[in-house]
Amino acid sequence: MKLRFDGRVAVITGGATGIGAATASLLVDLGAAVAILDRNADLGAKTADSLRQTGGRAQFIACDVTNESSVESAIGTVARDHGRIDVVVSNAGIQRYGDVATTTIADWNDTLATHLQGCFHVTRCALPVIVSSGGGSVVVVGSVQSSSAIANSAAYVTAKHALLGLTRSIALDYASRRVRANIVCPGAIDTPMLQWAANLSPDPASVIEACNRLHPLGRIGRAEEVAAAIAFLASDWASFITGSMLNVDGGMLVPAGGMSFQDSGTGSGVS
Ligand code: NDP
Repeated sequence: MKLRFDGRVAVITGGATGIGAATASLLVDLGAAVAILDRNADLGAKTADSLRQTGGRAQFIACDVTNESSVESAIGTVARDHGRIDVVVSNAGIQRYGDVATTTIADWNDTLATHLQGCFHVTRCALPVIVSSGGGSVVVVGSVQSSSAIANSAAYVTAKHALLGLTRSIALDYASRRVRANIVCPGAIDTPMLQWAANLSPDPASVIEACNRLHPLGRIGRAEEVAAAIAFLASDWASFITGSMLNVDGGMLVPAGGMSFQDSGTGSGVS
């Protein structure tokens, strides 16, 4: 069996750049017609344009996933244009920092609205279309922070944990309707979001270097490496996989106590 998406239609939120754009590019290469939904209209249109220029089937639809009617209209357009939806990649996200006391109400609301309500809106609108298309696959982009926490990231950690629950709910409720749902959980990935986060520091290069060291593989990941995992889960190769969490994290979640403990804790230096 070849990993192909010929005749299939995929919706990717946050597909203008980063992980979403890499996923759009890969799915187009594998034969899918792709609809990129993003609030960044200039970049989204450019990304879809460049995919069409290489012969791919790609469209851009301006959409704010936090806004229910914007999502309804975008999914309605895809369903009308193609008559079906087979794959949804719920990927749009933002990063905000703060602990519970220091997170502003606005940041809390924006973070939850983008990640959690965004995924709810998109899957709520698309699932009936997927079911009427004969079934399909939902891939949610979570994070290592779907199952662990990073300091000073209360809203983001909460949103990403909640996405694991939403993914599992969809997996269970829609299994009998031939829909699979899985969550991909990346470590630090080289995208505009990571660069934005690094640039909050006076020494962004040292932040990226620290991120490299967090991963046993010794480096941050590439957007294409996450896209490959998303494509696998969206494809028929994953036909018996639903409700699962796939870490794409260079081993980041493996070392107990983190990488510095491996260098200096009990057992280190013992031969
Ligand atoms: P980027 O910021 O590079 O790209 C995200 C895209 O989503 C941007 O185009 C952004 O637009 C768009 N977007 C944000 N909010 C909305 C919204 N309300 N409606 C529609 N589009 C929106 O992010 P990444 O590619 O790095 O991240 C993609 C996903 O992967 C996110 O869910 C993120 O949390 C997750 N992730 C990323 C990691 C990383 O290290 N990069 C690690 C783990 C998980 P705009 O530019 O206007 O904000």
